[in-house]
Amino acid sequence: MNWVNELAAIVAVESTGVARAGHASDVSGHEAVWPDAVALPVSAGEVAAVLSWANDRRIAVTPWGAGSSVEGNPIPVKGGICLSLERMNRVKEIRLGDRLAVVEAGTKYRELNRQLAGSGWQFAVEIGGDATIGGMIANNAAGPKAVKYGSTKAHVLGLEVALADGRLIRTGGRAWKQSCGYNLTQLFAGSEGTLGVITEAIVKLTPAPAVREVVAARFGSVRAAVDCLGELRRLDAGAIEFLDRSYMEFLGEVVADTLFCEFHTAGHGEAAERICRAGGAESVERAGEELWRARLRAYTASQEANPGARLLTTDTAVPLGAFGEMVEFLQQELATRRLTGYLLGHAGDGNLHVILPWRSAAEWAAVEAFHGAAVRKSMELGGTASGEHGVGMGKREFLAAEHGEGAVAVMRMMKQMLDPRGVLNPGKVLPSQNVTYANGE
Ligand SMILES: Cc1cc2nc3c(=O)[nH]c(=O)nc-3n(C[C@H](O)[C@H](O)[C@H](O)COP(=O)(O)OP(=O)(O)OC[C@H]3O[C@@H](n4cnc5c(N)ncnc54)[C@H](O)[C@@H]3O)c2cc1C
Repeated sequence: MNWVNELAAIVAVESTGVARAGHASDVSGHEAVWPDAVALPVSAGEVAAVLSWANDRRIAVTPWGAGSSVEGNPIPVKGGICLSLERMNRVKEIRLGDRLAVVEAGTKYRELNRQLAGSGWQFAVEIGGDATIGGMIANNAAGPKAVKYGSTKAHVLGLEVALADGRLIRTGGRAWKQSCGYNLTQLFAGSEGTLGVITEAIVKLTPAPAVREVVAARFGSVRAAVDCLGELRRLDAGAIEFLDRSYMEFLGEVVADTLFCEFHTAGHGEAAERICRAGGAESVERAGEELWRARLRAYTASQEANPGARLLTTDTAVPLGAFGEMVEFLQQELATRRLTGYLLGHAGDGNLHVILPWRSAAEWAAVEAFHGAAVRKSMELGGTASGEHGVGMGKREFLAAEHGEGAVAVMRMMKQMLDPRGVLNPGKVLPSQNVTYANGE
């Protein structure tokens, strides 16, 4: 395509089959779509130049961090340009006195934490995927530690963003307290690359816990486990994870509905042990590193156990008091529909995942139907279709049901205002706009 040569005059471009295939899918079951070209900018200026050019030409641009999403978020469904931030991966500043770091958007969160090791500080969001900070901000990723630290959004002080037409703006700043004007930082966070491309972020640093006490408690029923959650949440919990008995069986562990918790204040492990024993736990263990590693490997373990299968992962989050009802509903639905599904979740904040392998169109239809039932139940309980994975491709149909037509109309206005030509990550978050892209020509 001729336009790829034009693009190559602005930025480094790869258009080999290997490069395009490597940026065609995330880890979801959504179908891969190859971009026509992968752009590899090294500066905010280059990102802005690509956007300005693509906007004029009406060529679709899909930002890309590490491609570790689970909802089809970075799949370039309209082809065009995959705008990969992978070469913008520098930690530019670490300012312990200000409790912040300034990073390029393609920096992996693990790299920032590697550079912080031994300082007593951390970037506090920990997820299973080897993600970039830009991608985590764009998806508002969370993970097991969100019960204590909140989602990624809570850790962003400011951003540099390239708008669809190539303008570069800054949002927020370096102050830990900000109350000046509309909160654009929080608008771009969670927008999944549909409103602008994050080129740089100022993120908060949090004290690394000096104490880590781990407790694994096994129960004879979901109810017994869930009944302990209220008391456990009163402790200084860094994570409260739930793993259902079939998932434990799949891991080759003791078959029981299990709570796996981490505490950051000395003595809280012991207190949790007392709470779980009083709540009828069949056994309580204080050393659980192996189980913790198994928990973090949930996705890869599910893949390894189902070679050749694709995976659909649900991501509902319900009000805390409804967690038990949601678990029981999902277990019941899996049994009634005779589906294989691994159920686990962040019990501390009400977020539940079921990982469902599928291989054929018929199996896809069955897991999709289960997914729909899970989301509808979550909403009935006052919850959400997505606790941490974002809307991507698979949850767009639930947006109006969750937020109402009025709120979705406001979202459309924002999209129209910031990306009037619809070039940024088309086919995500909002139901598709009717746009014809020049990259198809
Ligand atoms: C094994 C495994 C475990 C996981 N565990 C968790 C977990 O515990 N919790 C959790 O929340 N998620 C988890 N994830 C999902 C995934 O890691 C997160 O969604 C993460 O935020 C994706 O980051 P990324 O850098 O890979 O971004 P990508 O997947 O490349 O992109 C994410 C989205 O953001 C957009 N985007 C990327 N970079 C930018 C940018 N600079 N500016 C604007 N938009 C951008 C993309 O277009 C896309 O819409 C897991 C994934 C895997 C594979």
